[in-house]
Amino acid sequence: MKTSVIGYPRIGAHRELKFASEKYFAKKIELNELEATAKEMRLSNWKSQKEAGIDFISSNDFSYYDGMLDTCFMLGVIPERYKALCLSKLDTFFAMARGYQTEKGDVTALPMKKWFNTNYHYIVPEFDDGVAVSLDDSKIKNEYNEAKAAGVQTKPVVIGPYTFLKLSHFNGSKKLAGYVASIAEAYKLLLKNAASYGAEWVQLDEPALVLDMSSEDKKLFAELYSAILEGKAVKVLLQTYFGDVRDYCADLLKFNFDGYGLDFVEGKESLNLIQKNKAEKGAVLFAGVLCGKNIWRNNYAKTEALLKNIQSAWNGEVVVSTSCSLLHVPYTVKNEQKLDASILEHFAFAEEKLAELKEIAAIFNGDNSACAKNAKLFERERVAKNQAVAAKIANLKKEDFVRKPAFAEREAIQKKVFNLPLFPTTTIGSFPQTAEVRANRAGYKKGNISREEYEAFNKKMIADCIKFQEDIGIDVLVHGEYERNDMVEYFGENLDGYIFTQNAWVQSYGTRCVKPPVVWGDVSRRNAITVEWSKFAQSCADKNSKKPVKGMLTGPVTILNWSFPREDISLRESALQIAFAIRDEVLDLEANGIRIIQIDEAALKEKLPLRKADWHSEYLDWAIPAFNLVHSGCRAETQIHTHMCYSEFIPIIQDIDNMDADVISFEASRSNLEILQALKEKNFRTEVGPGVYDIHSPRVPSVEEIVNAVEKMKKFVPESKLWINPDCGLKTRGWTETEASLKNLVAAAKKVRG
Ligand code: GLN
Ligand code: ZN
Repeated sequence: MKTSVIGYPRIGAHRELKFASEKYFAKKIELNELEATAKEMRLSNWKSQKEAGIDFISSNDFSYYDGMLDTCFMLGVIPERYKALCLSKLDTFFAMARGYQTEKGDVTALPMKKWFNTNYHYIVPEFDDGVAVSLDDSKIKNEYNEAKAAGVQTKPVVIGPYTFLKLSHFNGSKKLAGYVASIAEAYKLLLKNAASYGAEWVQLDEPALVLDMSSEDKKLFAELYSAILEGKAVKVLLQTYFGDVRDYCADLLKFNFDGYGLDFVEGKESLNLIQKNKAEKGAVLFAGVLCGKNIWRNNYAKTEALLKNIQSAWNGEVVVSTSCSLLHVPYTVKNEQKLDASILEHFAFAEEKLAELKEIAAIFNGDNSACAKNAKLFERERVAKNQAVAAKIANLKKEDFVRKPAFAEREAIQKKVFNLPLFPTTTIGSFPQTAEVRANRAGYKKGNISREEYEAFNKKMIADCIKFQEDIGIDVLVHGEYERNDMVEYFGENLDGYIFTQNAWVQSYGTRCVKPPVVWGDVSRRNAITVEWSKFAQSCADKNSKKPVKGMLTGPVTILNWSFPREDISLRESALQIAFAIRDEVLDLEANGIRIIQIDEAALKEKLPLRKADWHSEYLDWAIPAFNLVHSGCRAETQIHTHMCYSEFIPIIQDIDNMDADVISFEASRSNLEILQALKEKNFRTEVGPGVYDIHSPRVPSVEEIVNAVEKMKKFVPESKLWINPDCGLKTRGWTETEASLKNLVAAAKKVRG
């Protein structure tokens, strides 16, 4: 049995490419130095895979920023405004990714979106009227030859035309249909060229096949591929991932592909599908049985059983593969020095997954030497169960998820006790994280600053922040979040069951990486986390305005979604454990006189299943109750806020209302009126604070602009339910624009109140 890897991480085990790129952006190094680093990354990736003995190794999985953006360049999908900058090819590429400043003004970057159900973000291609599709496959050819020169035969991988078109934005007079023929032509030529420079296989990635497909989608796919595959002289692997191809499997297997890459980890239906549908004889199945997204060791016994079923269903060769690109996992466990060996033996990052692929293949070829060691890892529970947590979850009753009294009654009570003006003003939580704020935290972490000094600094910042908000007349105050680096890590550090790596970086977008914490064992709250800071902030306000200060927490679903989750228990169970921990904090804040508590769910939508049919059964049916559990124990007088960093929740608007928060703030300044329309149509019950200005840029919104935004909102949201706040936290902003913007926000609120 042969082995295949869909793609490899490319940022560098020590983020070398990130640092080199950033130096290049800052004009601290020349292009050739950046190129040298890039080449080193590629060669070292190929070397790791070759040494591990992988049979199908990818090339062109490297990118200076993003694979979708590479594909734009491959096809000539470059909007006029970037061409007009007359930059070199790579600088045009970076201009599209990051924006470009000229004397005449800024050319903004193309938008980014989340890549399917991952935390990776791709650049959204834009077709404008200047686009004339034509193939430039020099990058693919160069990387193929580079690998070949290093003694590695590779399969070039390219994002397929269907996925590319489905994710593109069409801005000009010609829409998608107008480009089908020329795109197909370009891919056809790509295959022809690949054959001529010696590639045996080309991998075309079509993850969009795992989404719900309409009949037009199917037509589009067929139109593209019947043209592309005609007369091809190279083997083509159609690679899917992140789910199964249940809408299209039978048709797909009728195409003249030489290989099909299916995902048997996230694709729950994949086995079923190949049992029911037969492929044309001779096609190779690339069976994605090794999870490309999570960091845990594969369970060989289970995988062997699965592979046996796969093999008996498939009438042709089976190759063992990763379930998706390894882009979504860190490089290697070897770079973790601080965690205990008893923990590390459970981890498999990209490099360790290569060895796993080989061992699984070996088991199939009759060599069982790796089985015993692997079986030991799964013999018993990794960590002792937290019996108290288990009991709490076992004893959960329906009413534990229901806050009482019901919303309307609470709303009336809260209106009375808070006595806030119409259109209350507030912010989302964080205030500018200046260099001093970060230095204070870093100094304390390194031991250069004593605990007393650290706390004294933060308290001074909090006191100033409260005073600032009081001076300018904000109604509901926040403490500023100076103690937090990150909204998940900060909580994880205070929760039992969480562990942290040193180098497990994963690319999030471009040069940005995240280092998700790991849910290792049962989660519970070790100690109060935010209580002292919130209490102190409220005490500052009590000395003066007596205004309420919002406690500020991250919700259980977001904490879980931005961590590497366990696989030995369900996501639901993990979410409930975290919910209990945050619930403890909520009740503690309440008991300490905090009257308003915000529970952020910035990442709630992130893990919504790709197929609509799975939304509730696989996700929302536990995610929303987990949130409910966090605040169901609160008194009626305690006002619960939540926050989301996006406004595209129309399809799940009822579920958002069912979170039963008292107030929700969300991003709205950059989006259109649709969300407001939906709030009105659905009779949205929760009070709302649609962001009135965009915090992602330093631009200061005028009073008039904010007044206009609020006037617009008033047409859709009852006055009694409308709050005025920015889009998101202010941590990435400077003080100058923060001060000016918030003053205008308060002035605007006064104006609309009349
Ligand atoms: N309370 C957080 C802040 O203001 C929310 C961050 C977020 O939504 N991503 O920074
Ligand atoms: Zn936000």
